[in-house]
Amino acid sequence: MSTPNQTSLSPSLSEAIASASQKRLAEILRQICSTNVEANAAATSYLLVSVDAASGVKRKAYETCENCKAEFHVMNNKDGDCVYHDGEIDVDDESSVWDDYDDYNPDPSSSEVMNDPGFKEGYIMSCCEKRPYEKGCVKSKHEAKDQPRKQQLKVGYVVS
Ligand SMILES: [Zn+2]
Ligand SMILES: [Zn+2]
Repeated sequence: MSTPNQTSLSPSLSEAIASASQKRLAEILRQICSTNVEANAAATSYLLVSVDAASGVKRKAYETCENCKAEFHVMNNKDGDCVYHDGEIDVDDESSVWDDYDDYNPDPSSSEVMNDPGFKEGYIMSCCEKRPYEKGCVKSKHEAKDQPRKQQLKVGYVVS
């Protein structure tokens, strides 16, 4: 059963959405939300979550994790969801990748060389001595910049 307001997404509109810039989509969504009550309510339910039901205070539902750079839903974020390295990427002088490397030029610690897949065996993580592309050594929850640790602690601990 479909409601009178229900519509379907045409393939051409779907394609136009997929190829539009993030900035353009944000502008269009803002416009739709400021002129259409239903769209406003739908966007609110997707993009905001209630912080305090009594006062009606809401916050963003999606954040980008500082550690693994993934986007996550703030109400669906548990220990183990975030896997990352908390150390630095160091040049691994022991690696045979550098055996034939000509005069270390450009410098192996330059992003130009670091981002070259041909040299991916030439780096080591300071935290666990694994390669940077290997699975992270720290497992935690995702963390967003504007999500202070204090606030997270408040949930799990009762101070007596
Ligand atoms: Zn590590
Ligand atoms: Zn994360």
